[in-house]
Amino acid sequence: MLIVMRHDASEVEIQRVVDTIADLGYQARPMPGAQRTAVGLVGNDGRVDAARLAALSGVKEIIHVTQPYKQVSREWRPDPTVVRLAGGLAIGNTDVVVIAGPCSVESERQLIEAAHRVRDAGASMLRGGAFKPRTSPYSFQGLGLDGLKLLAQAREETGLLIVTEAVDPEGVDLVAEYADVIQIGARNMQNFSVLKRAGRAGKPVLLKRGPAATITELLLSAEYLLAEGNHDVILCERGIRGFDSATRNVFDLTAIPVVKELTHLPIIADPSHGTGRRDMVIPMARAAIAAGADGIMVEVHPHPERALSDGAQSLYPEQFASLIREAAVIAHAIGRTLAPPLPLPARRG
Ligand code: PEP
Ligand code: MN
Repeated sequence: MLIVMRHDASEVEIQRVVDTIADLGYQARPMPGAQRTAVGLVGNDGRVDAARLAALSGVKEIIHVTQPYKQVSREWRPDPTVVRLAGGLAIGNTDVVVIAGPCSVESERQLIEAAHRVRDAGASMLRGGAFKPRTSPYSFQGLGLDGLKLLAQAREETGLLIVTEAVDPEGVDLVAEYADVIQIGARNMQNFSVLKRAGRAGKPVLLKRGPAATITELLLSAEYLLAEGNHDVILCERGIRGFDSATRNVFDLTAIPVVKELTHLPIIADPSHGTGRRDMVIPMARAAIAAGADGIMVEVHPHPERALSDGAQSLYPEQFASLIREAAVIAHAIGRTLAPPLPLPARRG
């Protein structure tokens, strides 16, 4: 529930609303804004009797949030959330952000080459898993801490910001030390211990949709992050499980406008996992931007045929460069622009 205050409401009147909410046994979340101050009420598992709050002076109106998720809903916050990262990069405004890199961090040579190639093509963030959630225990599991250190080195050399996955609660804190954005992978979308830890990690979170999760479930998982105080959340559509083996997943393009309608949080698209096929990645990346995605995350490997994971869906660097050129045109056609690459870091020594 949201208690919207009159624009001339005093601090004392706002505080009285906060105290009354506590008195009723719920938690208050005051939200001062340019247009209005509202006080959110959370902690209820059903409809709250608003009579006592409506009667307080300075209260303009009471809005009942009809969705099961609260703080992530558009009812709670009509304006889009813009997640601001280092170097002025922002996700959720008119810029379309391009994140690219290999599925896994495999070696210094592979990662640094990938970073330079995607940066030269125009990406502004580098992806790459150091901790890999693999279906088989015999598949490459990632370089762990060494992988995080290589990502940090790549950022230093190229200026690209880093997004990488944490697979367990302890890993969340470790990833937060090295990355600009903590990724929560599809398999962990409903790992509530990971979500709670990421909600307190002090870094933005990229939350991927689970392979069998509804959009309501995705938004309730995002609610865990906001409920812990982390409002810098970026959602990611990466395909859901279907019945047709023609593609690895069914890339749910509709999720993009649906999510935009239901929440103020930004959403990006991952057509690499969404399709699992290199030749499908480019058409779906184009479509995602046209559908209104705030960014794309694409797997790119300097030598996909040698990749230790997801080689079949990894673009060759030249393909990625051509995708970026097309993406800029599509973004422009709908009144957006591709986020410019971050400036190269100053040479040291
Ligand atoms: C990834 O992006 O590295 C990944 C493992 O994707 P997902 O969690 O969507 O399967
Ligand atoms: Mn992958």
